[in-house]
Amino acid sequence: MNAVTIPIRADNIACASSPVITTERGQREVFCGLTGIIWLHRKIQDAFFLVVGSRTCAHLIQSAAGVMIFAEPRFGTAIIDERDLAGLADCNDELDKVVDKLLSRRPDIRTLFLVGSCPSEVIKLDLSRAAERLSRQFNPSVRVLNYSGSGIETTFTQGEDTCLQSMVPVLPTLPPHSKPRLMVVGTLADIVEDQMRRLLNDMDIRDVDFFPPRNSTVLPEVGPDTVFLLAQPFLPDTTLALEARGAKRLAAPFPLGVEGTTAWLQAAANAFGVSQDSFDAVTRAPRQRAEAALARQRSQLEGKKIFFFPDSQLEIPLARFLHREMGMALSEIGTPYLHRKLMAEELAMLPDGSRITEGQHVENQLDRCHADAPDLVVCGLGLANPLEAQGLTTKWAIELVFTPIQGYEQAADLAELFSRPLRRRIKLAA
Ligand code: SF4
Repeated sequence: MNAVTIPIRADNIACASSPVITTERGQREVFCGLTGIIWLHRKIQDAFFLVVGSRTCAHLIQSAAGVMIFAEPRFGTAIIDERDLAGLADCNDELDKVVDKLLSRRPDIRTLFLVGSCPSEVIKLDLSRAAERLSRQFNPSVRVLNYSGSGIETTFTQGEDTCLQSMVPVLPTLPPHSKPRLMVVGTLADIVEDQMRRLLNDMDIRDVDFFPPRNSTVLPEVGPDTVFLLAQPFLPDTTLALEARGAKRLAAPFPLGVEGTTAWLQAAANAFGVSQDSFDAVTRAPRQRAEAALARQRSQLEGKKIFFFPDSQLEIPLARFLHREMGMALSEIGTPYLHRKLMAEELAMLPDGSRITEGQHVENQLDRCHADAPDLVVCGLGLANPLEAQGLTTKWAIELVFTPIQGYEQAADLAELFSRPLRRRIKLAA
């Protein structure tokens, strides 16, 4: 085991606290970045995600996507087989044939993502050159981009980061000295996006773009007059790419729960000079509705102890919400990666001495989990069943990414995701 403990103090925040952060390395139990295709293909409705991978990769996204087999799918796998792995076939020729066939059958596709996997990385297939070549060939009707969703040193939400990062260079340039524009970055369910847009518009923030867009041919412009708010915490590489194009990130907690949503909207309001009266008037009614809905959930969660295994990278904002708004006690907060800059506001809102683990050594973490005897464990699918069999109550982390949980109207649904397994356990025990 390789563990380093660092007590940190998050600066520049009024209520700064001192979580204790330990980094550990060992065996990990996480899904790979291909999983992001499931929510990305629902969001970008004219894109196709072509995984260049093995049959295992094909099985992973087919089983994760489930119901999609009944629709015309917008993802698929170009299988790398034994001949490719043995160097007996030219993978680029094979890939070109697959893409040719796909695009001639599917004229609705406007953006094709070539998604790298462990096998394509192992055989060092250069997908960026393939994307350039195919983009030239199919220009202007289809743009071909590439990103990695491989499971080599990643966790499943990183697939969205690499996907969005691959799109940043093709975003059009916002002309210099334009009116400032707000970009909301990170995939949100359409219903949440519509609610956020309405709230921002009601504050008179009208120049708002969402990235990724629903339509890949209508990309938001970016430049020094762009300010952006992260809607998801797992986008550090996209953040760097946007900053390299001159955009400025608005520091804020993430829009989970009433408190997080209010602070997130407030960051936009401050940047666009919205008066406090106007901000309060726009947010008052949805805030009060959400607070009332959360009060009903609080009785079920208050005082219960929760343990997070590292998985979705949403763990820290969720822990903040569950502790501050739902009264839960925090046992351990595991996170696959800790982006201190993006998380500064969240870290400052955690109670003093919160135990955060970055990375994973699953055996040691399981020992700590059993020793803590939490009421609820948030973990990946691989750990959930064995832990349930040992008498612990679990919540699948991946559900938190598939479910609309951001914003005021979804705050109670978010709390419900945690209270439901507790109620189920009580019923099973009765
Ligand atoms: S990308 Fe790697 S980890 Fe993911 S399904 Fe394919 S082989 Fe498995």
